[in-house]
Amino acid sequence: MKTSLAIPVQKIEKSKIQETDFSNLIFGKTISDHMFVADYVNGEWTDLRIVPYGPLDLHPANAALHYGQSIFEGMKAYKNDKGEILIFRGDANARRMNESATRMCMPEIPEEIFMEGLLQLLDLDRNWVPSGKGASLYIRPYMFAMDNYIGVKPSDTYKFIIFTCPVGAYYSKPVNVKVETAFTRATEGGTGAAKTAGNYAASLFPALQAQREGYDQLLWTDGKSHSKIEESGTMNVMFDINGTLITAPTHTGTILKGITRDSVIQLAKDWGKPLEERFLTVSELQEALEDGSLREAFGTGTAATIAHIAKINVNGKDYNLPEKGPDAFSNKVLNELDGIKYGTIPDSRGWIV
Ligand code: PMP
Repeated sequence: MKTSLAIPVQKIEKSKIQETDFSNLIFGKTISDHMFVADYVNGEWTDLRIVPYGPLDLHPANAALHYGQSIFEGMKAYKNDKGEILIFRGDANARRMNESATRMCMPEIPEEIFMEGLLQLLDLDRNWVPSGKGASLYIRPYMFAMDNYIGVKPSDTYKFIIFTCPVGAYYSKPVNVKVETAFTRATEGGTGAAKTAGNYAASLFPALQAQREGYDQLLWTDGKSHSKIEESGTMNVMFDINGTLITAPTHTGTILKGITRDSVIQLAKDWGKPLEERFLTVSELQEALEDGSLREAFGTGTAATIAHIAKINVNGKDYNLPEKGPDAFSNKVLNELDGIKYGTIPDSRGWIV
């Protein structure tokens, strides 16, 4: 993809890359040298620039800190064996960011600024993209209110930033989850489909309770009746019941429209795998766990791609899922997606830039 926006670059004086131990990366702690920044002032995005990653100057009355007009994205870039950098479905992240922006009364960021800022940042920090199986560069685009005003209203000014973090080979260990029927992540009419800070803040307390009980994540249920499975911490969830893949639909606006979810659905359709986008009820899930028709359950998300679920707690009862066999559908999906992301399988769907 060629770049056309002229984005001034202020380079870091001394790169941190020599002091970085790439064999021991903790997710989200190591941050690459530069960041892309744009400001929204007087109704337009201006002052596009790439600068050294560093602290921001924020006013104590910054509106985002008080009322949470703050949205983000999470995506990844990979290095193929020729040393080229491949971005997986970045256009989908740019579009989802703008859907979040609309819901949160924030301005859209033109896809051109999002993608060109990203491409030029990745070009400058290309040595930060780790190579090797499973390694990747996590990309964090985000936008937040910049008005210095504590009246409750949409801000007039915003900042958009992209920074990146190298992440090492990620061993996705099987997860234990608990069906949550007291706390609520999202309700119809709420902000569940937006990738906005407050959704994550609100999930911390219930998730911590479950972690204290020995579970990794919650399986959220709908806010009204708590009888339908929605999604998990930072993953959509899919269930294979008697060979049919079942995953929650997104029309209720209560579920984040995961890009991994969409990719898995497209693969399932291409491969003729029976698929139902509908709510699985908690009692259906419990029945399928009891009668053995649940073949596998897994989470889908940018971090792990596919996270196998090993144990599910439903109504206070723990169920162990069957061991994942080599011919599990999720293995086939993971191999295909990894192949596309690392450039070893041809990208016939236009997912890679
Ligand atoms: N649900 C939630 C709440 C999330 O935060 C994420 C991570 N973005 C997902 C699902 C999975 O989305 P994706 O496949 O786009 O990473």
